[in-house]
Amino acid sequence: MDPCDCFETQWPADELLIKYQYISDFFIAFAYFSIPLELIYFVQKSAFFPYRWVLMQFGAFIVLCGATHFISLWTFTSHSKTVAIVMTVAKLSTAFVSCMTALTLVHIIPDLLSVKTRELILKQRAEDLDREKGLIIKQEESGRHVRMLTHEIRSTLDRHTILKTTLIELGRTLDLEECALWMPSRKGMILQLSHSLHNLIPFGSTVPNNLPIITEVFNSAKAITIPPNCPLARIRTSVGSYIPPEVVAVRVPLLHLSNFEIDNWPDHSAKSYAVMVLILPLNGVRKWCDHELDLVTVVADQVAVALSHAAILEESMRARDQLTDQNFALNVARQEAEMAIHARNDFLAVMNHEMRTPMHAIIALSSLLLETELNPDQRAMIETILKSSNLLAALVNDVLDLSRLEDGSLELEHEVFDLHGLFTEVMKLINPIASVKNTSMALNCDLDLPAFAIGDEKRLIQIVLNVVGNAVKFTKGGHVSIQASILSPEYLQEWQTPEFFPTLSDGLFYLLVQVKDSGSGIKQQDIPHIFTKFSEPRSASNRSVSGAGIGLAICKRFVILMGGHIWVESGGLGKGTTVAFLVRLGHYPNDPTMQKLVPQMFPKARPHQGSGELIQHRQFEREDYKVAASFPLYNRSM
Ligand code: ADP
Repeated sequence: MDPCDCFETQWPADELLIKYQYISDFFIAFAYFSIPLELIYFVQKSAFFPYRWVLMQFGAFIVLCGATHFISLWTFTSHSKTVAIVMTVAKLSTAFVSCMTALTLVHIIPDLLSVKTRELILKQRAEDLDREKGLIIKQEESGRHVRMLTHEIRSTLDRHTILKTTLIELGRTLDLEECALWMPSRKGMILQLSHSLHNLIPFGSTVPNNLPIITEVFNSAKAITIPPNCPLARIRTSVGSYIPPEVVAVRVPLLHLSNFEIDNWPDHSAKSYAVMVLILPLNGVRKWCDHELDLVTVVADQVAVALSHAAILEESMRARDQLTDQNFALNVARQEAEMAIHARNDFLAVMNHEMRTPMHAIIALSSLLLETELNPDQRAMIETILKSSNLLAALVNDVLDLSRLEDGSLELEHEVFDLHGLFTEVMKLINPIASVKNTSMALNCDLDLPAFAIGDEKRLIQIVLNVVGNAVKFTKGGHVSIQASILSPEYLQEWQTPEFFPTLSDGLFYLLVQVKDSGSGIKQQDIPHIFTKFSEPRSASNRSVSGAGIGLAICKRFVILMGGHIWVESGGLGKGTTVAFLVRLGHYPNDPTMQKLVPQMFPKARPHQGSGELIQHRQFEREDYKVAASFPLYNRSM
């Protein structure tokens, strides 16, 4: 009998079907595993979805389903006990999680379906968004306000305007009941009300600045809320009863301020602060927001910067005013000095014309008188008159020279003169005095010293006479030598000193004159003062011989005018002195054709008229000789 068709016979495992099932199970498991990954991604990205844990549960359920499919890959053929256990655990877990998911869904589906819940969720979400938007708007607003305030504050560089503008702008921007500024007092012990927006705090109020609340404000870099009953915020108001408003205070650093009566601040290096107090409207409704506090803090800093700029400007303006005053004073002083110079010039003119003429007359007439018959007493008296007149004339000449040298009105002459003759002349003048003092004199003119030169002969002779006269004056029974030479251009640099740079151009030469004596000498420390006018060395041993102390000062100026240099050397007291000087002179050519060019080289030079005539033309006439003979050197020393 054929087996019954109703019962399907045990179907032997067909290789192909099993293969298809294998592949299908694998893909099912793959899909099951990928879905939870997508769910995890969804949960992470959607911040607003409220039932995340259900999704997680759902994910676990799918993973477990996938796992059962996956494990079943091993169950198509005969399988081990381990596979059976794993399969059982997976199925049990799947059953548990799927039941839990089903129950959870039963619980939350009505919730999800309820419109109210959805509304709530959306509302909450909208509120969140609004809050975020509001924050952004407020931040933008704060930035704009700060920029606007900063612009307003910085548009002026007057401190009071800056502070006033700050209070007005803050009051407007933050809709304040009152905004006030407390400044430290002169001694820094109290804070004084200096500016107020609506004058609700009585003007002139003071608060001791050692109050804990003020210390707290000083120590905080940011605006802080302070109690409304704090002395800084005590306002007078017409409103009977009101809810105390919120008050904030912020410190305003004071940099380089000098006009806010903090000059006598005990420690200038210590930072000093003003305090700005901001009071909200009295209805007590409004509260300070964080962004408003930030705005107040930033504005306080901006005010500090603007104040420091204003202070710097004020200081520079003060300095400018001071300079203007100083300039004015200098101008007045200059005018006075000019007037003094005019007065002196007038005096010098009088001296020149009115004093020298009678002086010369006295000298000339006394000299003439001396040549007449006189008894010894009369002679002695006339000699004294002559000596005193000579002294006075020499002094007048010196003072005149010095003044003209100082105001620059003295100009050197450029004339051709007998250089050798000049020294011979000096010897002639000095010899008689030297012989009275038992002092021997020697003159040594170098062979290459030109016979003639171009320069200011009168001034040169004055220098030589002064130096040689000093040598004779300070030497008793000794020796004085005069050495005149020409300085070789090759060795010019050897004579260079910090204050003297010898330079020569064509047609010029340096004359070196050295006057050496074996007299009283000069102390080393006195040498630097010798060329200073009216200063005679205090330690000089030759106190017995007095003078005005201007001879060498004049010589130095003449020497400098002649492009030269003068200096003194001495071995010390009693060891003699050497005074030497260099002056620049013009060469007088021997060649007659070249001599014709002299006026071009030295426009002021007078032509040489021969050695014989020179003396006559040198204007050294009889009384001049006598005046010359009365030069300070010998007369004063006698
Ligand atoms: P005065 O016009 O009074 O002579 P000087 O300016 O000529 O003054 O000289 C200044 C001082 O320098 C003299 O008072 C003297 O003390 C000192 N002195 C100048 N030359 C010599 C010298 N050859 N020997 C010693 N002392 C001198």
